[in-house]
Amino acid sequence: EVYFEAEDEALLQERPPVVTIMGHVDHGKTTLLDSIRNTKVTAGEAGGITQHIGAYQVVENGKKITFLDTPGHAAFTTMRARGAKVTDLAIIVVAADDGVMPQTVEAINHAKAAEVPIIIAVNKMDKPSANPDRVMQELTEHGLVPEAWGGETIFVPISALKGEGIDSLLEMILLVSEVGELQANPGRRAIGTVIEAELDKGRGSVATLLVQDGTLHVGDPIVVGNTYGRVRAMVNDLGRRVKDAGPSTPVEITGLNDVPQAGDRFVVFEDEKTARQVGETRATSALQVQRSEKTRVTLDNLFDQLKQGEMKELNLIVKADVQGSVEAMAASLMKIDVEGVNVKIIHTGAGAITESDVSLAAASNAIVIGFNVRPDVNAKRAAEAEGVDIRLHRIIYKVIEEIEFAMKGLLDPEFEEKVIGQAEIRSTFKVSKVGTIAGSYVTEGKITRDSGVRVIREGIVVFEGEIDTLKRFKDDAKEVAKGYECGITIKNFNDVKEGDIIEAFVMEEIERK
Ligand code: GDP
Repeated sequence: EVYFEAEDEALLQERPPVVTIMGHVDHGKTTLLDSIRNTKVTAGEAGGITQHIGAYQVVENGKKITFLDTPGHAAFTTMRARGAKVTDLAIIVVAADDGVMPQTVEAINHAKAAEVPIIIAVNKMDKPSANPDRVMQELTEHGLVPEAWGGETIFVPISALKGEGIDSLLEMILLVSEVGELQANPGRRAIGTVIEAELDKGRGSVATLLVQDGTLHVGDPIVVGNTYGRVRAMVNDLGRRVKDAGPSTPVEITGLNDVPQAGDRFVVFEDEKTARQVGETRATSALQVQRSEKTRVTLDNLFDQLKQGEMKELNLIVKADVQGSVEAMAASLMKIDVEGVNVKIIHTGAGAITESDVSLAAASNAIVIGFNVRPDVNAKRAAEAEGVDIRLHRIIYKVIEEIEFAMKGLLDPEFEEKVIGQAEIRSTFKVSKVGTIAGSYVTEGKITRDSGVRVIREGIVVFEGEIDTLKRFKDDAKEVAKGYECGITIKNFNDVKEGDIIEAFVMEEIERK
């Protein structure tokens, strides 16, 4: 592979930090990104018109800082799941009047999982209701103890709206990055990551690249994900044409044969022929840098890894219907004691399993455990695409047992649940003596008379039990397939509602390996 040249220590130079801004919705991420850009970018760049290319650079005390211009942790983790580590430092914005909210915790866990240092920007300090002490208190509970209280986390009070505290925030970013000793070799051929890409009517494929090492030049033969070409033109974040882009610089380029994806890596080659060859091979998937099944942690291959002595840490994400169950589950899981394996819970939360959970799992090689909850549609799709193992349970000891068994490398469970179909409840009828009939439409697979059923309301399992009757029109049916309507009554459960999902499952014996 010609991808990586050996790094010559003597040629390494300091490079600017790359910063991502995360936090709860409406806490001021976008306002902060705009505020930094407006107060800093145009200064000294008379006439420079900032252009949205997915990232921008500012200068503070003579030093550059690169900001990724997509607020939120979704983009951050999507990139990480694709194997790219672009962020050196995360700013987590917390509104001082609102305090720590669910997405604040999510952002913290995403940053921690990526092992990226965190700076807290306590925003909206201009508001009379601002309560920075409460923010510090709440974050302390999440392990982020302010320096003022003897901890290690830097808190900077700001008002993104009024542009107050921005200078101190930037100074702190530089301080924290100095500790990280960020370096690159500007002399080598460029490598980096796609920040965003699109098809432009006039210009063709347009991609914003973050150069992470080396220098990118106009005319360079380049492979970007599964696309390739020669860098035709480069535009910087001020909308100016440039010929070169050094480490930590974002640039928009044209000249690729197709549109790459955010998170794809790029590599410059010595000649166009090689770039074309590699690009074409990759496009035909032989070299696609996709996560191989082997590297995934699933309970199935956990055992093998244990046997080979590879596994040291089992990362888990725990979701449950209510906070109380989350805590109970987490506590029990932490107690599992198997030699050679550490259980590490990297994220917890109440509510359905979301796409964000799945991408965090993919990026961190974690297993997602759902207790009385289900993945939503996007999460399901993402889990399939990324090969993330989601384990769904309704009884705590079963979860513990399963994880413990897998960790000990004992046995696979003898029986495994298999979901065979889904139906949507479209109307309900109360019939005396019979109960409530769920007028349903089978949307996936089939429902059989003897299958177990689960009633799911907004991602939460509200009941699990057995079918009492299954009818097509007036007749009893043994099974009803996808695309057909049926009437279902459930044993001991009459509280079905329009819009509920009925999931049918059977227990299947699994072969022992
Ligand atoms: P995001 O969802 O985190 O990107 O939040 P936005 O940047 O869109 O901000 C949400 C709302 O909070 C907007 O109405 C902003 O004007 C307001 N806002 C953001 N920062 C501040 C601030 O420092 N002070 C005050 N008073 N309002 C702010």
